[in-house]
Amino acid sequence: MSANKTHRKSAAMRGLETPPRSAQCPQRVVVLGGGIIGLSTAYYLAKRGHEVLCIEKESQVGMLASFKNGSFFDSTLYSSWADFSAVYRKQTHSTKSKKSAFRIEAAAWMDPAFWAWGLKFMKNSTSRRAKENGRKIRDLGFYSQRKLQELIRMHPELEEAMEQTAQGTLELFESTGERDEVMHSDRIFHCLENRIPLQPLEAGEAACLEPALNPKVLSPGAMYSSTGTNGDVHKTCVALWNLCRQQGVMFRFDTEITDILVVDNHVVAVQAQNGDLIEGDSFVLALGNNTPRVARLAGVKLPMYPVKGYVLSVPRNTESSAPPLQCNVYAGGNALVSPMRDNTMRISGGADFAGFNYKSDPKRVAWLFQQAKALFPDNYFDESKLESHVCLRPVSADDVPFIGQTMVENLYVNSGHGSKGWTLSFGSAALLADHISGRTPEINIEKFSPLRFGLFR
Ligand SMILES: Cc1cc2nc3c(=O)[nH]c(=O)nc-3n(C[C@H](O)[C@H](O)[C@H](O)COP(=O)(O)OP(=O)(O)OC[C@H]3O[C@@H](n4cnc5c(N)ncnc54)[C@H](O)[C@@H]3O)c2cc1C
Repeated sequence: MSANKTHRKSAAMRGLETPPRSAQCPQRVVVLGGGIIGLSTAYYLAKRGHEVLCIEKESQVGMLASFKNGSFFDSTLYSSWADFSAVYRKQTHSTKSKKSAFRIEAAAWMDPAFWAWGLKFMKNSTSRRAKENGRKIRDLGFYSQRKLQELIRMHPELEEAMEQTAQGTLELFESTGERDEVMHSDRIFHCLENRIPLQPLEAGEAACLEPALNPKVLSPGAMYSSTGTNGDVHKTCVALWNLCRQQGVMFRFDTEITDILVVDNHVVAVQAQNGDLIEGDSFVLALGNNTPRVARLAGVKLPMYPVKGYVLSVPRNTESSAPPLQCNVYAGGNALVSPMRDNTMRISGGADFAGFNYKSDPKRVAWLFQQAKALFPDNYFDESKLESHVCLRPVSADDVPFIGQTMVENLYVNSGHGSKGWTLSFGSAALLADHISGRTPEINIEKFSPLRFGLFR
């Protein structure tokens, strides 16, 4: 092939409008990244009739952010993390310990990328933007839930493979003040507008629904969402990999992309570490936390930052008189607890800004475990079997994912899903596949445009 010219900066901002698309179909599409987002994108592209090649640097699918997460699949809980009013609410309603859910480490303070991202994040944290962004995320989440249901109808084996276990989600409140504020929030109005069933519960009703919990934490009442479910994100990746292969998607593992060759604002090939050039008509960046680094090789800037979180797995103590957990339990974002098929519980939380740092901090593990323990009767967990895992959330500067075309005409992005990537994956992928195929997507893709930050936003 004759890609003899590399224009790294050729995609620099030239205006803020999405450039016109050439709706050529079918095409050869190269999807970079074999996490939950890349796999779902590859699947929907293949369904639309494209020839799809998925490239992954690891030796199998779903080994990074999509390896182990909080396992929640519930769009009703989601708001944008970029929200000053949420920080204010936490300070008003919470105990002292709640402040430590977020932590900024020295490495981040000294990291120019953190400052660049952080300033944009703050700009998006006004109540008006947070409300708009929360609605964008949930609209995508509701769509994603519909797409998953559709997928399960077509491939019933997927439901079993995902290991859905939780029978809804129970949202807890620290006080009646917090409960009342949440009940009147735009998140709840938005869910109701979309006919998502949400049920406010008195303490006694919540205790009947989820007898595993310590009755004390239910005293302000709770909120039940019957549509919430859970499962194992890695097993979902493996199931999607199988579905992709059935649709003819080709895979190349152990292949790290190290360069993008752009000629006249058009990607002609990507280059692997071993020097191989991989050609295609269109390219999708679904590289999780690595997306901004690789996008930059084509001159595309994406404000994203890795936010470290912890996932703990721990079984129930068989001597505990409290029954096994049935629902997901959402304790104000401080600790998310979810029952898994293997009789363990997943506990997730913590948002540490520390750059690309996968180091586990025992104090953070202990803090998170403490948050979860406070929700259950004494000795509910078998602490001797506690396992912890660290992962990084790819968070965009308004916490809304980047889905769509970049300034390089055949380079697309599907990334930046932060703490909600599994839940949003099916909708994001279907949306982008429709867009690339020249079809009108079911929801407005412009809201997720990778160009939306322009120069100042
Ligand atoms: C603590 C925690 C809890 C979470 N809980 C939930 C939850 O309860 N519910 C939910 O919906 N979401 C949750 N998430 C978020 C969710 O897990 C992520 O948003 C999602 O997994 C991101 O998927 P991805 O495909 O974008 O990234 P990844 O899974 O990281 O995939 C990117 C892939 O690209 C590959 N790659 C990177 N660079 C290259 C390269 N140069 N060349 C080739 N391949 C490359 C990587 O190896 C990787 O496989 C949580 C995240 C964390 C950290």
